[in-house]
Amino acid sequence: MEEMAIVFSPKYYEHNTGRDHPESSRRLKTVMRELKRLNLFSATTGCQLVEPELASIENLELVHDPEYVGLVKRICELGGGLLDLGDTVVSPKSFEVARYAVGGARKAVDSVLDGNYQKAFALVRPPGHHAGPYYGAGFCVFNNVAVAAAYLIEQHSFERVLILDVDAHHGNGTQEIFYDSEKALYMSLHEDPREFPGTGFVDEVGEGAGLGYNVNVPLPFGTGDEEYMKAFDEVVVPVARQYEPQFVLVSVGYDSHYGDPVGKLQLSAAAYESIFKKTLDLASTVCQGRLVAVLEGGYNLGQLGKLAALTISRMADFSYSMKDGTPPANSNVARRARRVIEKVEKAHSAFWKLRA
Ligand SMILES: [Zn+2]
Repeated sequence: MEEMAIVFSPKYYEHNTGRDHPESSRRLKTVMRELKRLNLFSATTGCQLVEPELASIENLELVHDPEYVGLVKRICELGGGLLDLGDTVVSPKSFEVARYAVGGARKAVDSVLDGNYQKAFALVRPPGHHAGPYYGAGFCVFNNVAVAAAYLIEQHSFERVLILDVDAHHGNGTQEIFYDSEKALYMSLHEDPREFPGTGFVDEVGEGAGLGYNVNVPLPFGTGDEEYMKAFDEVVVPVARQYEPQFVLVSVGYDSHYGDPVGKLQLSAAAYESIFKKTLDLASTVCQGRLVAVLEGGYNLGQLGKLAALTISRMADFSYSMKDGTPPANSNVARRARRVIEKVEKAHSAFWKLRA
């Protein structure tokens, strides 16, 4: 049994996106219901509930432009509205709640740095990985995981932080924030990004000092466990091992699951289990197990709680199983996915030792 921090506060329910919005407070309510059903916060699981702190404005400005931070504050003070041309909604309380989401990711990192916990999961909302230096997008207000990484780099002198993004969508904000830095390696497996967010292609490999430190694996719609894990084994694991991160952050979105109404990948729970098993192995080999997961997307309210519980069970090493079956494989999609993996290997062969 491992000591693990679950960072959460009911304050996260107060970011109100309105009726029928997929990114609603019901997401975290269903997760907490499942964790309580499991009696997760009893002594036997090794998990403890930890309260997030309110992120300071300086913390937000580690990755966001002060003008953008001020804009979000003003829109919320005026009663809320849209941050983009799509459906990134804020309500009067959202500025404060989004600061608690950033503070939750930071608290998770601090819990591990302090040595109080080996691992942590920040169960936060609004999500963060689509938020860039000057903008909110894709339901994201501030970039929680990016602030956590910048905090490690700027305030704790870390030189190599891995951000692994397994949300169904490309984390365009995270990529942009660290595009020219070698201190954060951003690796993302995601669905074909042509529809959304329009970035996340193979040839976006970083620039300047960050050249080679941005790895995108854009998989075709419908990609299932087998090809996803092939990309994980052939790209993510070898690159991560060569990078030797001092800290591993995971942007975990559950919208890559086949039951998700928003994401278009076809992973089963078994893939999430493998992702975490391999990432935990990696963290224990290269950085004394220092691993923090930060919640991004995931919109199937019937499965979200179980998928989060499954992740936590792997991180805290207790038994939990989720039976969800496996969607049928599509050989045409599989073939196209394998071609993408080959392209990624080629694009990165100048920077990393890969099969290509
Ligand atoms: Zn997503």
